Amino acid sequence: MQFKTLAEYYEKLEGTSKRLELIDILSKLFKESSAEEIGKICYLIQGRVAPFFEPIEIGMAESMVAQAIGRAYDKSKDEVLKLYRHKGNMGLAAQELAQKHKHHGELSVGEVSEALLKIAGFSGEGTVGKKVSALCELLKKLDPISAKHVANIPLGTLRLGIGDATVLDSLSLSKHGDKSLRPILEDAYNKTSDLGFVAETYFKKGIAGIKSIELIVGKPVRPALAERLPSADEAIKRLGNEFAAEPKFDGFRVAVHKNGEKVELFSRNLENTTHAFPDIVSGVRKAINAKSVILEGEAIAYNPDTSEFLPFQETTKRRRKYKIEEMAKKLPLVLFAFDLLYLNGRDITQKPYKERRKLLESIIARENPTIRISEERVLHKASEISDFFNEAISEGLEGLMLKKLDSPYIAGGRGFHWIKFKRSQAGQLTDSVDCVILGVYRGKGKRTEFGVGGLLVGIYDDKKDEFVTVSRIGTGLTDEEFRKVDELSKHLKIAHKPARVSSDIEPSFWVEPKVVLEIYADEITRSPIHTAGRDKDGLGYALRFPRLVKFREADKRAEDATTVSEVIKLYNQQFAHRNNKK
Ligand code: AMP
Repeated sequence: MQFKTLAEYYEKLEGTSKRLELIDILSKLFKESSAEEIGKICYLIQGRVAPFFEPIEIGMAESMVAQAIGRAYDKSKDEVLKLYRHKGNMGLAAQELAQKHKHHGELSVGEVSEALLKIAGFSGEGTVGKKVSALCELLKKLDPISAKHVANIPLGTLRLGIGDATVLDSLSLSKHGDKSLRPILEDAYNKTSDLGFVAETYFKKGIAGIKSIELIVGKPVRPALAERLPSADEAIKRLGNEFAAEPKFDGFRVAVHKNGEKVELFSRNLENTTHAFPDIVSGVRKAINAKSVILEGEAIAYNPDTSEFLPFQETTKRRRKYKIEEMAKKLPLVLFAFDLLYLNGRDITQKPYKERRKLLESIIARENPTIRISEERVLHKASEISDFFNEAISEGLEGLMLKKLDSPYIAGGRGFHWIKFKRSQAGQLTDSVDCVILGVYRGKGKRTEFGVGGLLVGIYDDKKDEFVTVSRIGTGLTDEEFRKVDELSKHLKIAHKPARVSSDIEPSFWVEPKVVLEIYADEITRSPIHTAGRDKDGLGYALRFPRLVKFREADKRAEDATTVSEVIKLYNQQFAHRNNKK
């Protein structure tokens, strides 16, 4: 396919914010695509050249892109930057300048993808110059519409708002005539997190090829998720009279992929975090006695002198780009391994939890300071749950995870295989809600200083694959937190309501749904204003007195926010909780 054709699709996709229209346009694009290029197209429509978990960054800041545009179209960098500020988007600036140059654009999708990959690959001395020249040469060969979209890719400002579920629906529609194959495609996606790989397999090997996809070391697995229940008695009803309980560590989830000496780490939101945690990487090499492995654990900062677990605020200081080694010495992490998904060439997710746990125990060397196995107790009664819970809390941990002994590992799935019990704060709600920032209100009075005066936040409707509003937050953030929101939202500002957002409320400006905040509220109430879970009487759900617990932008993607059905469950559990208290 000519890149020019793809760019015309970009234009159509940009012109709608309705999910059904996005699917319709995408499925037409996929129909025109060959099996050789479908993978690349799946990355390119999300503004990438590789799956998002590969640490491939085009790595060009605004001034570098402006320099490349200037050189391609005989303008100075400052002239380009001026036009960019006027237009509000680098792509629009490139398009305007390209129009005067009348390139017809004959590059294929593959050639553009390759050129962008090459730019990402430059490193070492003279990198800036090489990247600028290569982008300039690429732009020179593109028509104005293609130039517009290509100029936005390095800056991450190609914002079509296309989610993974939208791509999967469109793949099914394009080849199968309806969306019915989405669950099977999604299953393969949950195991590999690689849309391009799933699409290419589907196009080359059909649905039989998709069904035979297993876990692959080096491709992150979408994590299994836990359910909440209001009481230990409720949990026992689901788990039976024999189940496992483990402490719930308040750190961050780490997936370890090991193949021989090669070790890679992935975060909860599937980013490659190998470079951030050299201590875990070397711990894995020493402690794991197996050729190839995918395992999961929770990393938490730990004081080896006092055997104390440190609070999340300390642990999170390890998520940094600079002074990594220094921080690793100052704040050592312990990875508490809690599940094994793959061992010596075999996907073992279908084995029952208790067998996976035994295998996990068999491959972890004892006495390793960095890699340990999480404590596990097999329990039978509600009273045993509360005893272990109190013990965990008194050690500074978050609570317990209860696990069904015979359940498989369900990638990307939430179910009653895992049940979490967290320390509940004052108020009625038994858990916090992870919300996505959808819009920002400009600050007035004292808040003018921060830029941000309040936020419009939403949750994820996974059935409709859209973001729906659940609260406005004006207080409940410290000055420093407001500044951080201002900083984050500057880069995500968008001129119109983003695709896949449903809202009756208009903030001062919209942002691309990306930043996840963990929010505590006193209560969930019914609300005619918010679109979360809105029923036929026009009533949705809202958070009452919301306050920020922590930023989760580093470990949750927007689609990992709390879902509408979870909020409805929490709403119903409030009543159960209150009735229990009476
Ligand atoms: P939450 O983020 O509150 O939904 O709780 C689920 C998270 O708890 C998982 O994603 C893990 O990061 C974390 N976690 C902590 N300890 C454990 C454990 N023993 N087993 C499983 N997950 C755990």
